[in-house]
Amino acid sequence: MGIFNFSQDLGVDLGTANTLVFIKGKGVVLREPSVVAKNLETGQVEAVGGSARNMIGRTPGNISVIRPMKDGVIADYDTTAVMMKYFIKKAMRKRSLMARKPNVMICVPSGITMVEERAVIDASKQAGAKDAFPIAEPFAAAIGCGLPVWEPTGSMIVDIGGGTTEVAVISLGGIVTSRSIRTAGDNMDDAIINYIRKHYNLMIGERSAESIKMDIGRAGEITQDEEMDIRGRDLLSGLPKTITIQTSEIVKALKETVDSIISAVKDTLEQTPPELAADIMDRGIVLSGGGALLTNLDQVISNETQMPVFVAENPLDSVALGTGKSLDYIQHFRTHPNVSTRSTTD
Ligand code: ADP
Ligand code: MG
Repeated sequence: MGIFNFSQDLGVDLGTANTLVFIKGKGVVLREPSVVAKNLETGQVEAVGGSARNMIGRTPGNISVIRPMKDGVIADYDTTAVMMKYFIKKAMRKRSLMARKPNVMICVPSGITMVEERAVIDASKQAGAKDAFPIAEPFAAAIGCGLPVWEPTGSMIVDIGGGTTEVAVISLGGIVTSRSIRTAGDNMDDAIINYIRKHYNLMIGERSAESIKMDIGRAGEITQDEEMDIRGRDLLSGLPKTITIQTSEIVKALKETVDSIISAVKDTLEQTPPELAADIMDRGIVLSGGGALLTNLDQVISNETQMPVFVAENPLDSVALGTGKSLDYIQHFRTHPNVSTRSTTD
């Protein structure tokens, strides 16, 4: 490699909710919402990332705010490529490292199709990557959480993002069993919106729903009721209105989503070979992704599975850290491109 040994290769977590960029030797240098604001008349991109997210629900008619990733995969190819290009440039310009095109290690959901995976690789190249290496999201998350993925021991990771929940059991550098469901944080927000509309005839926006979830959302039983004031639009009068809701109501609203996540974990455990299940019983299940931050979710999963459950130290960063750390193993991904991405998911 000679003088090119200094590396500026990137790890990218292209998530439904957030995109993170990791630079080798620097760590995570960029965290931005996966959001793009476009002018519908001119087709021009008005804002990308955090500034575009601030426009959600607040745009005039000629501006549209797009989340180009849906359920973990690319829903709007061109917008995704533009967004990635912007983020990669921003991450690299900060370090003035634009000397050569970077190789990119990029996460993809474990349940992805070949066509969907190809789109991620092509979008990465269009965004400026020399070459792009897909890595299964739960595998990256496990590496990011410091789990011993290369060893002959079972590790279980549950990554709960905006669009997908990925559950996987990993041993010897590969995914042994996994499940990818299209139920995650976004569904919790939708459930809150629907609950409040149904019970109070009040329409609230997705940003408000998300803050309710973060502030008083909770999985499982209610221990003590807190309350929160919520503002929205009264569907009967059409006017702004404030109501007060209790934690218990939000717990009820979130139950279905939480139950789906628990089922995915249980189903995966049922398909896990006994030796590996025994390892997981010893070492516990690790939760990553922003959804892992839902209050009490770890406890509920632990009760339901009778396994120890831990939340990753920085759940929002786990996948990005894992894509970054796995840059050291880029040869492995080059020679065994399918080892860590393809799995037995339905
Ligand atoms: P993705 O990988 O799909 O981009 P992330 O791992 O970045 O998703 O997680 C984003 C999701 O995590 C969002 O649905 C967000 O609302 C949720 N989230 C973030 N913080 C919290 C919290 N404190 N409590 C509950 N959910 C949270
Ligand atoms: Mg993610």
